[in-house]
Amino acid sequence: MKVLVVGSGGREHAIARTLLQSSRVKKVVCVPGNGGTASLERCSNMAFGVTDFEGIARFALVHEISLIVVGPEVPLAQGITDFLRQQNLTVFGPTQAGAQIESSKAWAKALMQEAGIPTAKAEVFTDEASAKAYAQSQGVPIVIKADGLAAGKGVTVAQTWEEAKTAITAAFGGQFGDAGKQLVIEECLTGQEVSLLALTDGQTIRPLLSAQDHKRIGEGDTGPNTGGMGAYAPAPIVTPQLLDRIHQEILAPAVAALRNRGIDYRGILYAGLMITPQGEPKVIEFNCRFGDPETQVILPLLATPLEDLLLATAKGNLASIPKIEWKPGVCAGVVLASGGYPGSFDKHKAIAGLESAESQGAIVYHAGTKLNGSQLVTDGGRVLNVTAVGETYDQAFAIAYSACEAIEFEGMYYRRDIGHRVRMSE
Ligand code: AMP
Repeated sequence: MKVLVVGSGGREHAIARTLLQSSRVKKVVCVPGNGGTASLERCSNMAFGVTDFEGIARFALVHEISLIVVGPEVPLAQGITDFLRQQNLTVFGPTQAGAQIESSKAWAKALMQEAGIPTAKAEVFTDEASAKAYAQSQGVPIVIKADGLAAGKGVTVAQTWEEAKTAITAAFGGQFGDAGKQLVIEECLTGQEVSLLALTDGQTIRPLLSAQDHKRIGEGDTGPNTGGMGAYAPAPIVTPQLLDRIHQEILAPAVAALRNRGIDYRGILYAGLMITPQGEPKVIEFNCRFGDPETQVILPLLATPLEDLLLATAKGNLASIPKIEWKPGVCAGVVLASGGYPGSFDKHKAIAGLESAESQGAIVYHAGTKLNGSQLVTDGGRVLNVTAVGETYDQAFAIAYSACEAIEFEGMYYRRDIGHRVRMSE
């Protein structure tokens, strides 16, 4: 079979590389892909944009693509799945209606409230004065969220009334464009954040391994939020009992509520959870696609062929796969970023040392890279994701960190404390 993967991040490199481990997958085409996907055998990049639906459809029909896997949320929210399914193509990823679970936080909150899913108490506002009055009445800390997609920048966890007021003024002043015309203002939850991604075809639900990301740029979880600076899987806080609760109290009611709205949801349902100090799982947000960097630490542990899972989900017969098999051990991932990220940073810095890093047992997934002729150069804020599987977290992180030391590019930055909650040596 031939598979087309839409996207250009570490997540898409991990999906492509995992698919290619199977001899059944003859070819993967990434749209637009990155320097990592360009270097994989049996893989090529096509320079379409991720929202060029017509270009993608034409290419997929001409090249007899059996499955299209959509990585990022933006094309899903714009209806890529609806468009491609109309051309009889098989797509992994929800329709535009289903993607609202990520593309509108107000819509997702209403769905959760209706389905009785545990989440932060919240109200939705479309005018500045009532938003401010509500935030003031609730007191700080309080969380201000732009309703729409804002590339991960739409959330302010305000510790002071000044911060809350500034965030509300800025959102209604157009900071996030249309995405900030509606605000969700919600209670601030405390506890540990975990990500639980599940495959669903709208009926059957198959959770993947839990994972924990590190959102802040600085060590000790300080500084501004990023797209994610490193992760590991599984997250030991998600015990089998807790996973069962998450399935019963969160995933199953969410999938049922989507079905009740007439939505045919086939793809990933990603629950971003806060595990409160009392051990209660509460939803911070839902996403409608694979997480990045969680995917890069989940897929190296997958034993069931990925194409079987994605195809069964896309075709609506996930029930045919009774259980997902996992390899033993754990997986650690550290993100190598361009100096200055998440603020401004330089691009086009030569990258060296990848072979040496991989010879130590690490898998290096590319995020912001591209090939300039035969030279690999930086092309984004998050550049590489260095992952390693081990018997223990200490072992996996030791391999990953020693591989990080083998890699060089000007201005390279990474956190040295990824996995601090699970490493004995920390
Ligand atoms: P989101 O885009 O909704 O995932 O929010 C980004 C980050 O803001 C999350 O990963 C959390 O760290 C934080 N956050 C969002 N909502 C809450 C909340 N209700 N309580 C505490 N932190 C939150």
